Amino acid sequence: MAKAQKPSLGVDLGGTKIAAGLCQEGEILKKVIFPTHAAAGFDGVISVILGAVEKVLEGRDHKDIIGLGIGSAGQVNAETGEVIYAPNLKWQNAPLGSALSKALKLKVKVLNDVRAATVAEHKFGNGKGLDNFANIFIGTGVGSGFVVNGRLVNGATNSAGEVGHICMDPDGPLCGCGNKGCLEAYASGTGMENYVKAELKKGRKSIIKDLAESKFENVRGPLIGKAADQGDELAIAAIERVGYYLGIAAANIHTMINPEVILLGGGMMALKKYFMPTLLQTMKIHILPVADHGRELVREAKFENDAVLLGGSAIFA
Ligand SMILES: [Zn+2]
Repeated sequence: MAKAQKPSLGVDLGGTKIAAGLCQEGEILKKVIFPTHAAAGFDGVISVILGAVEKVLEGRDHKDIIGLGIGSAGQVNAETGEVIYAPNLKWQNAPLGSALSKALKLKVKVLNDVRAATVAEHKFGNGKGLDNFANIFIGTGVGSGFVVNGRLVNGATNSAGEVGHICMDPDGPLCGCGNKGCLEAYASGTGMENYVKAELKKGRKSIIKDLAESKFENVRGPLIGKAADQGDELAIAAIERVGYYLGIAAANIHTMINPEVILLGGGMMALKKYFMPTLLQTMKIHILPVADHGRELVREAKFENDAVLLGGSAIFA
């Protein structure tokens, strides 16, 4: 029997919480979660990560660990371990990898969070054994990671896979990035909520108004899902609209990189029964016929909340 590989550490660094885990061959041996305290600045966040790592190691010798991999929110330089820009951490050019490596005396690698989740899917999840696939995460935003010819794609400026910001309509709604009509402005949880709010403002009838007690800030994804469960037309139309735009994006990805499959994950998957039929139908219409291999074109990702943490650790697995 092959000797088991040494464990590695994975960290999921988000704007509100930090999860750290000790992992071995795709399994989490121990995990802790702490609030990020982003307002405390770079040094404050580093202290939280160090505290989380020590808690997870429980006095275990650092020599027994292969390395620490971090999936961070924002744009990351995977070579230098720098976080170039992360608006929800309020970081610019933050030397995350080198600061942690110095403090822990461990090898440290940093990836964008969705790219880290893609590594987890590639090594241990539903992308295992595949040389070409895309992993799209649909939550409050839309992100993705691409594996092409067996390797994760970073791109010339580490922004490969920013599928949330491909343009669906140059005259479309404003996106958080400053451009108009990005996929994220339509197909994210936020995009769906904004559509429902705009329709309600126009006077469209819907039980969402009552469920939200006429407060726009209450119009959130789970509430729209609840309205859809009760057969509300606006709620169902809003979720199907997400499927329509995701379907166009999925067709374009298939046409462009010809992957074996596109994996889908993230909080929006809770509403998949309402958007998947539209997504599949739209994708079939817009995909280049030669890119349609006739097998399953879209599949759910394996890992949910732990994808980024596992992916961080999997950089060393
Ligand atoms: Zn955008």
